[in-house]
Amino acid sequence: MTMQRITNFVWQRMTGLMPGELQQAELGWLASPHQHLSLLARRRATMIVNRVRLFAFLFAVLTPLWSIVDLVVFPFPLWLNLALMRLLACAAFASLLLYYRPNGELFDAYRAMVLLFVIPTAFYVASYTLLGHYQLTGISAAIGAGYAFLPFVLLAGLAIFPLTLLENLAIASPILIAQGFAGSLRWTTLDWPSFAGAFWLLMLITGVSTLAGMSQLAFMIALVRQAIRDPLTGVFSRSSGEEVLELQYTIASRSNAALSVAFIDLDYFKNINDSFGHEAGDKALLDMTDIVSSNLRRGDMLARWGGEEFLLIMPNTDLMQAEAALLRLRNIGFGMRPDSTPLTASIGIAERSADLTTDWKALIDLADQRMYLAKQNGRNQVVSRHTQMHVHKQ
Ligand code: GH3
Ligand code: MG
Ligand code: MG
Repeated sequence: MTMQRITNFVWQRMTGLMPGELQQAELGWLASPHQHLSLLARRRATMIVNRVRLFAFLFAVLTPLWSIVDLVVFPFPLWLNLALMRLLACAAFASLLLYYRPNGELFDAYRAMVLLFVIPTAFYVASYTLLGHYQLTGISAAIGAGYAFLPFVLLAGLAIFPLTLLENLAIASPILIAQGFAGSLRWTTLDWPSFAGAFWLLMLITGVSTLAGMSQLAFMIALVRQAIRDPLTGVFSRSSGEEVLELQYTIASRSNAALSVAFIDLDYFKNINDSFGHEAGDKALLDMTDIVSSNLRRGDMLARWGGEEFLLIMPNTDLMQAEAALLRLRNIGFGMRPDSTPLTASIGIAERSADLTTDWKALIDLADQRMYLAKQNGRNQVVSRHTQMHVHKQ
């Protein structure tokens, strides 16, 4: 009992410290990317690639420029070798800039980020090995020592990416491990206290960068939520519905998978507003979306298309399954009117392969037309390819 009270207390204190803009369910998104919505993942992938390109541009310019400093302070063969390495690094950064464009794929974003980190690491290892052959003194020694700061720059640079805890650790740990490994190779000659001090500093920087990256992510999650949700009902907005449907349509066409959509229009909704006021209408919309949302399958998506019209997107759902799902929803009902009679809806269903549609817009148009057939046929019913013949006859 006391134990539970203590854990509750600690938990509340901890969440109190977390960014206030996040909701409870979103806190886990800071730890790992697995649960992220596809809309968030795509925006994040775009942002990561854009930042990689920004940094690739900066490094492509600055890396060769530093040769001027090398020329002044280092003896001849050394600066030339360094300059060649710098040119190679510059070419690598430039190609990263040329070949990577944001495409919304998280995997491509990871790869771009890894490349951005691999190029300076390779440069660091090569230049550090080269500098080891020279006995530098005075200002040359100071500039030479500067080359050892690269891992610090890399780990500090992590701070500009909106990454989860897991992703930060996945990128930082190879650098930390390599640093530790390099130290253990020089086991006998190593100045241990200063090595341990530098390593400790690296870990601190990693910690701070990780926190910075996660707080960027938290801010991004909050902004994306506001941008993709309808403010009244909290379901997806029309623009995010279109974005998701376009994506799902491409995926389904590529793998010839089923994809169903249902157009849901509430019946005689204007009546609620006219008889009971706009607030009552708003409440009915909220109740309706709560009921539908809690009866959705994982992967289904509900978007508010306008006023009292909604689009339900059901990936990997064939026509029979979609009909069954919507009939079940219709039986559960869409909530109550203020006068305690059931609130009903007219629903049109379309499915990609059964209806032989060519694009996502055609899919919505079909569902929309069938919703109108359902209205004409007396409302409170589901119309699909299977049932529209009967509707026409009546
Ligand atoms: P039907 O059965 O033919 O669909 O009739 P209906 O009254 O539902 O359809 P109609 O399209 O004529 O009216 C839709 C109404 O929905 C009009 C508007 O007052 C109401 N509405 C749209 N958006 C909102 C909203 O955000 N809040 C409230 N309270 N009402 C809204
Ligand atoms: Mg209506
Ligand atoms: Mg309407």
